[in-house]
Amino acid sequence: MIDHDVRANLERVRERIAGAADRTGRRATDILLVGVSKTVDITRIRQALDAGLPALGENRVQEARAKVAALGRPVPWHLVGHLQTNKVKEALELFDVIQSLDRLSLAEEIDRRARARGRTVDCLLEINVGNEPQKTGFTADEVGAALDRLAKLDCLRVRGLMAIPPVGTPDETRPWFRALRALGERHGLAELSMGMSADFEAAIEEGATIVRVGTAVFGPRPPR
Ligand SMILES: *Cc1c(COP(=O)(O)O)cnc(C)c1O
Repeated sequence: MIDHDVRANLERVRERIAGAADRTGRRATDILLVGVSKTVDITRIRQALDAGLPALGENRVQEARAKVAALGRPVPWHLVGHLQTNKVKEALELFDVIQSLDRLSLAEEIDRRARARGRTVDCLLEINVGNEPQKTGFTADEVGAALDRLAKLDCLRVRGLMAIPPVGTPDETRPWFRALRALGERHGLAELSMGMSADFEAAIEEGATIVRVGTAVFGPRPPR
């Protein structure tokens, strides 16, 4: 893919974000675009950064390691995939935000490692919004008790919620977005990470503050 395409893709995504924000009386500047760059090569990622992409997302520590080595951390890196407890130490060297906080034992390890590094880590609670057996994350019913426990960990800050709803058309996914928003409101959480290439406009209309967009920015994903 040539330079022009990534830039044009990014511009188009920005316009669509602005359109969706407009339709619901929101400001586009209140929505963070995280470019999910899994399997995307360094050249294309650099093109997106040069064109003003404000944040990057990866779902594997190992892949992020090579990319951070090549690109540094000119923008915040967000972890959006399942994190094994034994990779927390390295994840904290690479990522600014952990969007995929999906269990309490992981939170305890993040807190412990963050304290050793003298930092505080911004996290999102991953919600298994559709109660799908193959997915990790908290169920809506578990959030209250989890937040009580997490409030005791002072090197970890829960900024909001993240979800990957059951696969469907944007109209099928919309009720899940709405449910995530209601859950965030119930617990006083400001950030909502929801919406990907196929449905980020619906997510914004339902209150997303963070969208995670891969193919619409970088083009079709090559296989790993
Ligand atoms: C890959 C991925 C995305 C982006 O997916 P696209 O459909 O390419 O936009 C978003 N969120 C997570 C957690 C992902 O793994």
